[in-house]
Amino acid sequence: EFLFKILFVGEAGVGKTALIRRYVDNVFSYKYRYTIGVDFALKVVDLDEKTTVRLQLWDIAGQERFGVMTRVYYKESAACVIAFDITERRTFEAAKKWKADLDSKVHLPNGDPVPCILVANKCDLEPRPVPREEIDQFVRDNGFVDWFETSAKDAINVDKAMKFLIYKVLNS
Ligand code: GDP
Ligand code: MG
Repeated sequence: EFLFKILFVGEAGVGKTALIRRYVDNVFSYKYRYTIGVDFALKVVDLDEKTTVRLQLWDIAGQERFGVMTRVYYKESAACVIAFDITERRTFEAAKKWKADLDSKVHLPNGDPVPCILVANKCDLEPRPVPREEIDQFVRDNGFVDWFETSAKDAINVDKAMKFLIYKVLNS
């Protein structure tokens, strides 16, 4: 049995809370508890008959405006989701700063960087000011494990992205 702390960071308004709510409330029908106004939501995921993972999904509300988080927030995290709004280039560019903040403040016990995915949220919307090739390059240059287009609204790829991240953690 595993317990993983997973962080969600990124600019205000990109959909961090919506992603967590979509993931926790809808995609799998596992036991969960979600408490609004508190720092994290819990989700239990049965990956297979033998493997259950408990996730603590850490959300931020309001602290984004400082552009950095405290070490306490990052402490003992197993993985990170950095989200941006696919319709807003500014939030994509800010993802670099969030990744640098993460890497400067926390590592796995073995010293490796915390596995981190980049999530291009609101893919149900237009326009798309950032070309896919640029995102691919950005992900390689900045040490993300991968990236996903998601829509918390239409439930696109949220489950897939989280599952990918969980397997990364289990293999890291
Ligand atoms: P946070 O500040 O990063 O937690 O962002 P929120 O989760 O509060 O979302 C900000 C706004 O974007 C809200 O009005 C959400 O309803 C909206 N939103 C979040 N995700 C999506 C999405 O995938 N598609 C669309 N169209 N709107 C979204
Ligand atoms: Mg929020």
